[in-house]
Amino acid sequence: PPLTQGKAIMGFAITEPDAGSDTLSASTTAVLSGDEYVINGNKVMIGNGSIADFLLIYCLTDPEEASKSLRHSVLVVETDREGYEANKIEGKMGLRASDTANIFLSDVKVPKENLVGKRGQGFFQLMQFFDRSRAYVAAHGVGLAQGALDLAIKHVKTREQFGQKIAAFQATQFKIAEMSTKIELVRTLTHKACWMVDHGKTHTKTVAMAKWSAARTAVEVVDEALQLHGGYGYINDHDIERFYRAAKVLEIYEGTKEIEK
Ligand SMILES: Cc1cc2nc3c(=O)[nH]c(=O)nc-3n(C[C@H](O)[C@H](O)[C@H](O)COP(=O)(O)OP(=O)(O)OC[C@H]3O[C@@H](n4cnc5c(N)ncnc54)[C@H](O)[C@@H]3O)c2cc1C
Repeated sequence: PPLTQGKAIMGFAITEPDAGSDTLSASTTAVLSGDEYVINGNKVMIGNGSIADFLLIYCLTDPEEASKSLRHSVLVVETDREGYEANKIEGKMGLRASDTANIFLSDVKVPKENLVGKRGQGFFQLMQFFDRSRAYVAAHGVGLAQGALDLAIKHVKTREQFGQKIAAFQATQFKIAEMSTKIELVRTLTHKACWMVDHGKTHTKTVAMAKWSAARTAVEVVDEALQLHGGYGYINDHDIERFYRAAKVLEIYEGTKEIEK
């Protein structure tokens, strides 16, 4: 399929202005009319929203259902359909190479075959999706933290103050030791979570622990790594400034750090 060949781009639109962490409150409606679903609503902060060929859209299909967790479904929506509009968000703190957009769906019609899986199972599909996507975010956190540490080590080995390399100060060595240890801990936990996903033993708690701790470590390590750059770290001539801006979102998307717990 075009997606796996890199010829198509997609995304997953869940978040709404009044339904962020509380995904069961999503109110974008999809009403079955004949052979089509008619979709109306507004999604915010959607990755690839303005460049995707199609999106998975998390919709309210069964508002009368007694159980809140059986009210939503996931639909594939091709972005060239009439009534689909996406506004690219400018001014993100980081991840600026990645497109993020607000989406407006106004009487967007898709064939009923665009329903993914069974109607009313959207919330459970979402939870299964997070069991995997949070593992990727954890891996992103490990890589980002390792990259920040590498930059810090490079800097302290070249920068001199008080007549010697700042790497020679024991205070600096302690920081490097602490950062390395924190990264190794979350790398191990992330490997475990990913191994379980790969081997069909996906474990929600392990993935959530990996995502929460790797994101926290990325934020902490990138802060200390920038500190070791002194004022130069605050200026965008140095890559660490970009790492600092990129880290925070790992504690926000795919479930905030509070929601992971
Ligand atoms: C760069 C970027 C890309 C994104 N990409 C996507 C995407 O592709 N698709 C998509 O659907 N969404 C995407 N999002 C949205 C993201 O998933 C949401 O921002 C996130 O889920 C949090 O929702 P919210 O912003 O509405 O915050 P809120 O839910 O309003 O949370 C605000 C604060 O309240 C806390 N809080 C909320 N409920 C509780 C509770 N019960 N207990 C304790 N604390 C609580 C939260 O943890 C947080 O600290 C993206 C966001 C960003 C910034």
